[in-house]
Amino acid sequence: MSEKTQKENLAINPSNMDTSIKAGDDFFHYANGGWIAENPIGDEYSQYGAFTELRELTKKQLNELVNEVAGMTNVQPGSPEQKIRDFYNSGMDTNKIDALGIKPILPDFERIDGLKTREEIQQEIVRLHVKGISPAFSFFGSVDPGNSMMNIATFNQGGLGLTDVEYYTNDDPKSREIREKYVEHIARMFGLAGLPDKEAEKYAKDIMDFETRLAKSSLTRLEARDPIRTYNKMSFDDFQASTPAYDWSSYFAALDIENPVHLNVRTPDFFTEINSSIEEVPVDTWKKYLKWNVLNRNANYLSSDIERADFDFYQGYLSGIKEMKPRWKRMTENLSGYLGEPLGKIYVKKHFPPEAKQRMEELVANLKYSLGERINQLKWMSDSTKDKALEKLDAMTVKVGYPDDDKWIDYSNFEVVEGDWLANIYNGRQFFKQRSLERIGEPVDRDEWIMPPQTVNAGYIPVYNQIVFPAGILQPPFFFMNADDPVNYGAIGVVIGHEMTHGFDDKGRQFDKDGNLTDWWKKEDAENFEQQTRILVDQFNNFTILDSLTVNGELTLGENISDNGGLNVSWDAMQKAIQGKEKGNIQGFTPEQRFFLAYAQLWRQTIRDEEMARRLKEDVHSPGISRVNAALPNIPHFYTAFDIGQDDKLYVAEKERADIW
Ligand SMILES: [Zn+2]
Repeated sequence: MSEKTQKENLAINPSNMDTSIKAGDDFFHYANGGWIAENPIGDEYSQYGAFTELRELTKKQLNELVNEVAGMTNVQPGSPEQKIRDFYNSGMDTNKIDALGIKPILPDFERIDGLKTREEIQQEIVRLHVKGISPAFSFFGSVDPGNSMMNIATFNQGGLGLTDVEYYTNDDPKSREIREKYVEHIARMFGLAGLPDKEAEKYAKDIMDFETRLAKSSLTRLEARDPIRTYNKMSFDDFQASTPAYDWSSYFAALDIENPVHLNVRTPDFFTEINSSIEEVPVDTWKKYLKWNVLNRNANYLSSDIERADFDFYQGYLSGIKEMKPRWKRMTENLSGYLGEPLGKIYVKKHFPPEAKQRMEELVANLKYSLGERINQLKWMSDSTKDKALEKLDAMTVKVGYPDDDKWIDYSNFEVVEGDWLANIYNGRQFFKQRSLERIGEPVDRDEWIMPPQTVNAGYIPVYNQIVFPAGILQPPFFFMNADDPVNYGAIGVVIGHEMTHGFDDKGRQFDKDGNLTDWWKKEDAENFEQQTRILVDQFNNFTILDSLTVNGELTLGENISDNGGLNVSWDAMQKAIQGKEKGNIQGFTPEQRFFLAYAQLWRQTIRDEEMARRLKEDVHSPGISRVNAALPNIPHFYTAFDIGQDDKLYVAEKERADIW
């Protein structure tokens, strides 16, 4: 084994640490300082951390497989290999893509130019919706939160080109600057699409005015996290009566579905605005806006000048990235997005051993047991609510690795053609759109995976009461097949506990054991819960980043509750696992210390200022540094493991610590 491989295999790598820093003063840098010093952010990244490293490794693994497939000359038409090969090769053919320039979307532009009436605008909106582009609003089939066994027709706000509603509405200097840059960007894009400067500028201004109108009637990110506020089940007739200017019967006819009996309108005020916009906004403005949707949504799949302009704004300006990723990486990402499961099926055969699945299932069972014990011992919750919580925990299902043999998504309706990149993108979008529409009124299929196996992430689905761990995350530094227990409990164990706790965070707790949005809490228990979580909100609201910005304690609350629970639950499970075993130090660290070090190293991260500011606004997860330095001081064993006392900077008095699950 070479020195390099040996180094990579170390579960805790002391050279990643900076022991000149006191653990009790800044655990994030104590655990990760060495790594941070050695890993300046490369030009193609907005941030770099454990997730990025593993995603990069996975991309390389995937690309090796893709390259094998891409060179195949004899593949069965319609087979996964044919789809992967032709999708990838068509996307890599930059000569052809560049030669075409704006041409592939000109038929859309010409058709939109020909629209004359408000009825025709509505027809064009639905025509684009069928093609998987969502101007104005979005419509899809999804689980009915009130009856989680069934899918319901769902309307949601949307239609904005900027990534956060508040960029349109806030008055701070940064938001104002983002608006100015966005207007410039729209004009630049229409310039590249062939409009004279003056006209492109006029387009940009009108589009911005219209999107601002939509934004003002939209829920903010925080408001949209509220499952009750966004559950508005109504009859078709009531919805139609509330938005008389919009012809919904024609909309559904064009989607080739019957008028649904019931709908969930997640954001009713927004649809009142859509109604007014259909009546009031000039047809001419609508046309510009629709063209912008076509151009903006396809920018990444057109010639390199257009792709470049899109990169400059969304990734360069908003995230601070200096350089576009190499094309093969972008294509691998596209493949995971559009042909995720066919590619994942090949991936797991080579990179996910069955033993890993077994080991994970054991870990999940141990974590579940510990969370049950903790719920039983809670001081702030009454017995009757505890019983319901335990029932919910017991009913929680788990997916590990990849779909069962007969549960992979059937891609036969996704036609991939040779040598036509944009056609493949459109076929893919249409395929997923169709799948979403076909669900409406049908029972929910809980065997379906929400992310392909190669994904480096994990999740909890409230309406399924289900936790999901794809094969992608079951690799170092999250999961070590052969490392000592403390390391695995500190890393993947906390991740499992985190996902389980999502079932009981401020949002998850509003769903019952079957995934129905229903209140199973005694009033005083709910009040106690809120009081406990208030401590976390305040702690994170006070966590300062980049001198003047702070974490948004409300927006990140669900994640912070889950880290708090994940750490406590996994700690208990680890104690059980190492009971009676020899407790020697490894690399000079006690098992308890290795638990916290393994956790902290998951959140090692270097990040650009632009990206940090963007995430503080848009991300429900708080930054890596606060997931360590704000989360750990709530955990009692953290103090004993590193001998942390009142004089240390991270010290939080016992009374002020959050202890929820
Ligand atoms: Zn989470």
